[in-house]
Amino acid sequence: MPRNIQTLRNIGIIAHIDAGKTTVTERMLYYAKATHKMGEVDKGTTTTDFDPEEQQRGITIYSACVSFQWRGCDFNLIDTPGHVDFTAEVERSLRVLDGGVVVFSAREGVEAQSETVWRQADKYGVPRLAFINKCDREGADFYATLEQIRKRLGSHPLLVQIPVGIGPPHVNNPFRGVIDLVAMRLLTFTGEKLGAEVISQELPEDLRDEASLYREQLLGELFNFSNELAELVLADQPVPEPLVKQVLRQATIDRQIVPVLCGSALHYVGIQPLLDAVADYLPSPADLPPVVGVDPKNPDKQLTRAAKEDEPFCGLVFKILADKHGDLHFVRIYSGELKANSRVYNPGKDKKENAAQLWHIQADRREQVPTAGAGDIVGVIGPRFSITGDTFCETQAPILLESIAFPDTVISMAIEPESSLERKKLGEVLEMLKRQDPTFRALENEETGQTIISGMGELHLEVIKHRLLRDFKLDVKVHKPRVSYKETVNAAAEETGKCQRVVNGQSLFAECRVRITPASDDKPATVSTQWIAEDSHQKQCVYILQTALREHAEGGGLYGCPLYNCHLELLPTTLPEPLPNEVALRIAAADAFDRVLKSATVTLLEPIMKVEVTTPEDHVGDVINDLQQRRAMITGSQLRGPNTVLDAEAPLSAMFGYSMAVRSLSQGRASFTMEPLRYGPAPADVQESFM
Ligand code: GDP
Repeated sequence: MPRNIQTLRNIGIIAHIDAGKTTVTERMLYYAKATHKMGEVDKGTTTTDFDPEEQQRGITIYSACVSFQWRGCDFNLIDTPGHVDFTAEVERSLRVLDGGVVVFSAREGVEAQSETVWRQADKYGVPRLAFINKCDREGADFYATLEQIRKRLGSHPLLVQIPVGIGPPHVNNPFRGVIDLVAMRLLTFTGEKLGAEVISQELPEDLRDEASLYREQLLGELFNFSNELAELVLADQPVPEPLVKQVLRQATIDRQIVPVLCGSALHYVGIQPLLDAVADYLPSPADLPPVVGVDPKNPDKQLTRAAKEDEPFCGLVFKILADKHGDLHFVRIYSGELKANSRVYNPGKDKKENAAQLWHIQADRREQVPTAGAGDIVGVIGPRFSITGDTFCETQAPILLESIAFPDTVISMAIEPESSLERKKLGEVLEMLKRQDPTFRALENEETGQTIISGMGELHLEVIKHRLLRDFKLDVKVHKPRVSYKETVNAAAEETGKCQRVVNGQSLFAECRVRITPASDDKPATVSTQWIAEDSHQKQCVYILQTALREHAEGGGLYGCPLYNCHLELLPTTLPEPLPNEVALRIAAADAFDRVLKSATVTLLEPIMKVEVTTPEDHVGDVINDLQQRRAMITGSQLRGPNTVLDAEAPLSAMFGYSMAVRSLSQGRASFTMEPLRYGPAPADVQESFM
């Protein structure tokens, strides 16, 4: 039997780095009995971060999906990374979530990254709860954080809990528990038993006034969303708890409000009520509108699928993890049912795939299941051709869901294995990393013996480097990262390349005719041909020429950089008799490639990043000056609370080490996000340095 859709919760925990996402996750899994031993981030033993690199750095990079049960609900917890270099990963998780828990630190409040992710969650229409963590910390300020959620995030937070006291044990009125404003109870947690027991008691006299005040506020807000509740309030009648919950749930799902809870994950306070709130207020897949896709044969025709078992099956591959039993393809099922040992259709690749085994991944064990239903998330072993972002569906009812887009890589780093044994090992490890992380590329250069790895930013490559050296203990030499330049042509051109040589008394003769045209599709160069070969020998010649052109386009043009934003077409010519051999064809293709680029003329392109800096008013001038010195173009600015948010476009080459710079410019108060935007012409001095 598939899981019941009404009691499914596909959620993600979203947070700025260090707000406590990992600790909250860890506690949730523990209380849900998914793990037997409580993990501690500071000791590096947590369960969702099962990647050693993450544990060492204490950041969550690779999102994984963990299932557990709570109060009769099946939770699928999709981890979302919090670092700026991984926005693509965050967006990817948001695509498949139904609800989010946003964790804030009561000490640091709303930080820049939380703002970015909050806006991404808005874009994907994700209903959320807010959890104000670290109420036990020195300097924690619950109500100031609440105000920031309201003002900086432009949202409508609604308190369903308030903290009792705030700050560490030595202060006057330390944090000791929470008041549940829905049930009007005091909740405390037993520290000795790792908070496993929640003690719910009547409100003591001294807390009643404060609790009543906030309860009134809560009802006053909910008043707007339900006539039934409004009538009771107006008649001064008690409002039953189930009604409050029902109204809260609907308003949360409609994204009218964001219920706010609080606690201290580290000290085991507030986690079980947070789990309850997810079950009570966040949507099940059945509460959401049908997913929209297109007919693969006719992309103009929209199709929808409701989250129902009797609809034809469709799902989206949102993550692939290499696993010792085979690659696990994490699939969000939007409609119908997926059975083990069945065939699914991948309409994007026009291929049938085997869904051999279905797995639900728990924190400490995995469970093989015969079927998974609409709304659920399942790890599938068996597919061979599919990658992240691909749709799976029934062959009889094809639908193509919107793919997950990943930008081209913008930064690269050379690595050299120290021995041929290492080279083989390196190759295998890189293949695995590539499958797991679609924003990472690796390419071996046979001539130099170097492997070039590329990614989305400085940190991204640094993480990969550490994994290679530390986790996989590879003996490789790692060079400094450098910007990935590309080149494009300025005009269309057509040329013929030739091979006319005599080698060892044998004459080598071949020709290759090619046309190049500029394009503006923000893509690596494409190579095609209309040449229809007359027989299989000719066909082989055409294939060799086309492959050679493709290799040259990828390998580099006049600047030695891969061709971008252009299209190469192999044009038909008369092949000599006897047919030329491969060497002659390749020489002719190389000559044609060189000639056509020279006649079209080329421009060097550099990656341009989209940068967003959030800075307090007093540092705006310095930040702008600095950005301008980095050749940035400021494209917009807006006030958000006490801060100014600057939007800019800047070349990546000028943004190395920016995180340090922006911190020192603003005494640590400004923060930024940066992601690849497009490729643009490099300035003359950079072009010259390539000559
Ligand atoms: P993440 O980066 O968001 O995953 O945050 P972590 O869960 O790794 O927590 C970051 C740091 O804050 C760790 O040292 C935690 O022990 C600590 N921490 C997490 N929650 C709390 C809390 O409620 N109170 C206090 N005092 N520290 C916490």
